[in-house]
Amino acid sequence: MKDDTKIVTAGRDPESNHGIVNPPVYHASTVLHPTLADWDASRETRARGERGIFYGRWGTPTTFALEDAVSAIEGGHRCMLYSSGLGAIAGALLAFLKAGDHVLMTDSVYGPARAFCNNVLSRYGVTTTFYDPLLGADVAELLRPETRIVYTEAPGSQTFEMQDIPAIAEVAHRHGAVVMMDNTWASPLYFKPFEHGVDVSIQAGTKYIVGHSDVMIGTATATREAWPQLEETSRQLGQAAGPDDVYLAQRGLRTLGVRLERHWQTGLKLAEWMLAQAEVECVMHPALPDDPGHALWQRDFLGASGLFGVTLTPRPREAVAALIDSLSLFGLGASWGGFESLVLASSPNTMRDARPWPYEGPTLRFHAGLEDPDDLIEDLEHGFAQLRKAS
Ligand SMILES: *Cc1c(COP(=O)(O)O)cnc(C)c1O
Repeated sequence: MKDDTKIVTAGRDPESNHGIVNPPVYHASTVLHPTLADWDASRETRARGERGIFYGRWGTPTTFALEDAVSAIEGGHRCMLYSSGLGAIAGALLAFLKAGDHVLMTDSVYGPARAFCNNVLSRYGVTTTFYDPLLGADVAELLRPETRIVYTEAPGSQTFEMQDIPAIAEVAHRHGAVVMMDNTWASPLYFKPFEHGVDVSIQAGTKYIVGHSDVMIGTATATREAWPQLEETSRQLGQAAGPDDVYLAQRGLRTLGVRLERHWQTGLKLAEWMLAQAEVECVMHPALPDDPGHALWQRDFLGASGLFGVTLTPRPREAVAALIDSLSLFGLGASWGGFESLVLASSPNTMRDARPWPYEGPTLRFHAGLEDPDDLIEDLEHGFAQLRKAS
């Protein structure tokens, strides 16, 4: 079955739900068992690692529908839901670590994941080394006997470096380490992590899966081998996602294919427009032919989403404010992946250990929404005029 068919069918079973197209939203904590024997049997089912309906935190048909859909599309064995994308990152990391372990984490990682390593894992005796995202198989030189996880994110969601995931995974596996990836940029549709050696793939479902800027949710999908360990600790951490949020995420997923195609096209159009502006020093978008990550993107990815970055030639903060504040179609705010366009001023230079940020000028991140691209470009033309005036 092709992906566009899978996103419509996976995790849905109208026949077992009165013919109703979408899965029911179960609000549940207590699940009543008719007899003590039934209660005992359900405990045994859970002990065998099998799915069942025992108690709200362990999932309901609502939860299972989204889990099954995400794991079917991403291509993993099973999927665990979390209350946010960062919750999924923290849960997945904790599931595989113990005191004394070492994590290799890409220097281009999502900022709060960096903070989790530096501020939380460090308190539990886990050390983290941030590695140059452009290292492929050469991460081998940074592996230590106690390295347990090699964590990747491609492209980085602030600075858009591509990573050679298969090369990194091969080296990590030879060493006995687990390979994790934050696959939010590409979504489950445009990068297939399990075909490229990833063991645990994380999605901030908040972004493209939900697609409407109204829900926080995270997913971690694992291979058959990695699944038991991921599940056990995540359950013990008390991770669960709310039923209405789970429902909205599965609802968003059904239209992911058509939405992403439009985000991709519009994002590329905006990125190409940016290339022609004298004030723009660099456009960071792996689908652009001159991007340093283009060959990897072409080799491994099936498409691009609508998120990309630009650096401007050096200029004062007030000039950047003049640009951002004059935009009317690009909202200023965290997150991305919704139907609307966004802009954010980022500071990659403050979040680097392994690979110093080479640009002095301001960095901006754009999310191309589903508006008409010509309207977006007109808005940008107006904004850049204000930037010029204020520079
Ligand atoms: C937003 C984001 C996250 C975190 O997701 P939340 O749902 O906001 O916690 C993780 N990784 C990437 C790449 C993100 O953009």
